[in-house]
Amino acid sequence: HHPDRSTVHVGEPGAQVAIGPDTFTLIAGPCAVESAQQTLEAAEMARAAGARLLRGGAFKSRTSPYSFQGLGPQGLEILADIGRATGLPVVTEVVDARDVALVAEHAHMLQVGARNMANFGLLQAVGDAGRPVLLKRGMNSTVEEWLMAAEYVAQRGNLDIVLCERGIRTFEPATRNTLDISAVPVVQASSHLPVIVDPSHAGGRRDLVVPLSRAAIAVGADGLLVDVHPDPENALCDGPQALVGADLRELASAVRRLTPVV
Ligand code: PEP
Repeated sequence: HHPDRSTVHVGEPGAQVAIGPDTFTLIAGPCAVESAQQTLEAAEMARAAGARLLRGGAFKSRTSPYSFQGLGPQGLEILADIGRATGLPVVTEVVDARDVALVAEHAHMLQVGARNMANFGLLQAVGDAGRPVLLKRGMNSTVEEWLMAAEYVAQRGNLDIVLCERGIRTFEPATRNTLDISAVPVVQASSHLPVIVDPSHAGGRRDLVVPLSRAAIAVGADGLLVDVHPDPENALCDGPQALVGADLRELASAVRRLTPVV
């Protein structure tokens, strides 16, 4: 029912960041908030690379229960503080419907992760929270299922939804997941919602982030969600995919060169 593609605005009134067809939005930050220092350094790296929004996980939904699960409420405080200090609105994942109000107090945008894309109670709760929603595609989900997940949010009266393609599970083990680049135009043909791409979680490898980002820009994505870390070797979560140094500079330059507006 929306003939024109939508733009979603994130952040405090007067300092909002747009995600939509008339701009290109880089979102970057650490996979997980580990400490105030690490988050500050990552946020400064992100901002220097041209990021307009800061990402960072306080509640992590990890495949293994023995992996770092995030700092929880303390991580939210850190993220909110660093967002204020750097002037970047923040987006963070919420993994449990009971935490939605708390996360919404600290974050400008609520992320629903791939593992929770079909958690319908969570989708309804984030739909009620009064914050824009970043909805990742489940790694085992079709485009149709992903769009129906978005409908669960929209049905609550919240149309501020940004879709994020982050790779799907295929028979190919060379990458963690297979980035379904065709999903971007496929979604754009049937939905008015902005679509961004997460090349970090798709490939799971630092060396793939810039090439996949270029592909995302070329295919018409509305933005990127990228992991950065000041010390990837010692990261508590997904260090092998985090950008630092020359790789991050290359990403920043690709975004500057290849996108019409940043
Ligand atoms: C993330 O963005 O922190 C994340 C865990 O991604 P995904 O849900 O796509 O695996």
